Amino acid sequence: MPPFLCRKAKAVVQRALLALAVGACALAWAPPASAQTGLPTLGDGSELGSSAERRLGDRIIRELYRDPDYIDDPVLEDYVQGLWQSLLAAARARGELSAELDERFAWEVLLGRDRSVNAFALPGGYLGLHLGLVGVTSTRDELASVLAHELSHVLQRHVSRLLTAQKKQTPLLLGALVLGALAASKNPDAAQALVVGGRALLLQNQLNFSRDMEREADRIGYGLMAPAGFAPQGFVGMFDKLQQANRLNDNGSWPYLRSHPLTTERSADMHARIPPGTAIGATAAAPATLEHALVAARARVLANPGVDSLRQWIAEPQSSGWASQPLPHRAAALYVAALGSSQLRDAAGARAAAQKLDGLVRNAPDARQASDPATRRLLGLLNAEIELAAGAADAALQALQALPAGSDTGRPELLLRTRALLQARRAGEGAQALQTWVANHPKDATAWQLLAAVAQAQGQTLRAVRAEAEAHAARYDYAAAADRFKAGQDLARRSGAAVDHIDASIIDTRLRAMESLLREQAAER
Ligand SMILES: [Zn+2]
Repeated sequence: MPPFLCRKAKAVVQRALLALAVGACALAWAPPASAQTGLPTLGDGSELGSSAERRLGDRIIRELYRDPDYIDDPVLEDYVQGLWQSLLAAARARGELSAELDERFAWEVLLGRDRSVNAFALPGGYLGLHLGLVGVTSTRDELASVLAHELSHVLQRHVSRLLTAQKKQTPLLLGALVLGALAASKNPDAAQALVVGGRALLLQNQLNFSRDMEREADRIGYGLMAPAGFAPQGFVGMFDKLQQANRLNDNGSWPYLRSHPLTTERSADMHARIPPGTAIGATAAAPATLEHALVAARARVLANPGVDSLRQWIAEPQSSGWASQPLPHRAAALYVAALGSSQLRDAAGARAAAQKLDGLVRNAPDARQASDPATRRLLGLLNAEIELAAGAADAALQALQALPAGSDTGRPELLLRTRALLQARRAGEGAQALQTWVANHPKDATAWQLLAAVAQAQGQTLRAVRAEAEAHAARYDYAAAADRFKAGQDLARRSGAAVDHIDASIIDTRLRAMESLLREQAAER
């Protein structure tokens, strides 16, 4: 069990663990039946199998996807994905990630719209990352160091070891949970009391990674940094930040610090790994620092800071001493002012700040910063977003067209362009690109949702209903997906000959798939 889950996720983990325990118990009582239904098992009592752990993880994130704090921000998601995929590739190349685990686990990072500084590993290769943590990092290397550390917990199977330890060390408790779950099918109220009692016990014990596990995650994570293209000093930068927050006694908004109590030993260990004479913190390339400053600024705005904080931040570029701030700081403040104003529906203020930001970057003393395509791309996406929010769809499309060559094929561009076309009542022009995207990325729930809107705008109701169903399926909500597919079937029947028969037969097939998945889930319960 990961130690630094938010309270809500912890409850979800408990429920999922309960489901898993039932699966294991069913296996003990009736092996042939469970083999037929493919129940998750706890193996032969030693290690939690990777398939079982993945299914546990899927159950957990199905709940997290429903959490209003879950956020799919295409720009942040794209950036974090870039870091995450580099680390995964390094782990593969170094033999830290076996082909089996690579295939079985999800390797997905979920962003949380939360101001607190937190990140956590979940069962099955899922990672939770709060925007508050992204917002306090100064370099991509610092953010990468957190991802590398959490990734290493997963690679070293620390999560599964904790889950297995739970099973070993509290057999009575798990037994109670299993009985409670079995009782639940007859009497939900009785089961609830047992689960609540069980949760209290579970939370008290053995939920933290051990010091050895933390040290191992530091060591493996550190080793991944350079091969993944990051400065290993990011670890030190992050440690220094954590230590500073510790001194300020700021634990409340830094849950990461609570779950990773910073022993001077761990910090010293990291410092010792840096070759003598290496400058700490100043090694990241200048353009990367500017790009990261804008990304972190975006995370701070999207982390739900509240209107008062937002207004304060928007005013920062007018404050005295502003001009003497370092360039990344000024760029970040202008980005916050632009995006924040847009969120407060002040289009004029947003445009003015974005224009100022553009000028600041163009005139950067370092030519690499002035012409960095990644930074220019972020500015273009920001402009498009501001225009879209202002209802100026044509201006948004122009901003997207003006993106640096080669940087207009990403997911943020696709989603923004489709939204702008929808707003301009030209939905049809965006349909094909989006259709191709979901064919290649069937787990992209946001893209499916947008495709539903596009189809609806074109009067293709059946296609819209199917896309809505796929959006639910992509987030493991098979019941909701089945509902929509059934609605699609009804619609097809009522529409008769007017309906697209390919769409109708896809809906039939997909409904059967959902029903089969639902039966599997019911068997696990
Ligand atoms: Zn850790």
